[in-house]
Amino acid sequence: MSKRVMNPAVRTTAVVLATAGLGATLVAGAGSAFAAESKAAPVAGTAAAAVAAQAETQAKVAQAKVAQVKAAKAKAVKAAQVKAAAKKAAAKPVAAKKAKGWVKPVASYALSASFNQGGAMWAHKHSGQDFAVPVGTTVKAAGAGTVVKAGPNGGGDGPAYGNAIVVKHANGTYSQYAHLSKIKVHVGQKVAAGQKIALSGNTGNSSGPHLHFEIRTTPNYGSAINPAAFLRTHGVSI
Ligand SMILES: [Zn+2]
Repeated sequence: MSKRVMNPAVRTTAVVLATAGLGATLVAGAGSAFAAESKAAPVAGTAAAAVAAQAETQAKVAQAKVAQVKAAKAKAVKAAQVKAAAKKAAAKPVAAKKAKGWVKPVASYALSASFNQGGAMWAHKHSGQDFAVPVGTTVKAAGAGTVVKAGPNGGGDGPAYGNAIVVKHANGTYSQYAHLSKIKVHVGQKVAAGQKIALSGNTGNSSGPHLHFEIRTTPNYGSAINPAAFLRTHGVSI
């Protein structure tokens, strides 16, 4: 029984103590909290500043990355533009050559007798343009067409021409190449502008190694026009 009497007292005391303790704890806690709060403010401020600084750094890094990506993109665009420009530039001469359609029959030469020039070499006036070149020089088709004459005796035009070739072009134009040392094409063969068709020589009625070049309005002798003027109107100056 005594135990039962004492027990509530102990319990009460304990409750009081516990309450006091709790109160003390609460007061102390409040004080601590206040102290902590006043102390935490600068800490929090520093932390906030650190976070802000970090955010700023991250933003800067992000900006730098964006700038980097932008620069890389700009570089890629520029590289593509340069590439496209280079491609265009490379394609241009081919297009110009194609559009022109006519080339010089020999690459390197000295002009000798010109069209309509008089002299002991010709029964009438000179029917073509002479290009002085060493024997064996590459002779090219001045324009695209089809070979209609090729062989000795001027390809049928007479012995004065030596070995000769006549090429038929579009629009009733023919080109003739004479005094050749070697013929590389045959009648009926299609040739491109600039294609090698013969080697120059000194065959027939020739005073020295040269290519005799004619532009004609028919396949035959007697229909020649000024070849230098013709080439000039087709974008080729000799
Ligand atoms: Zn000639």
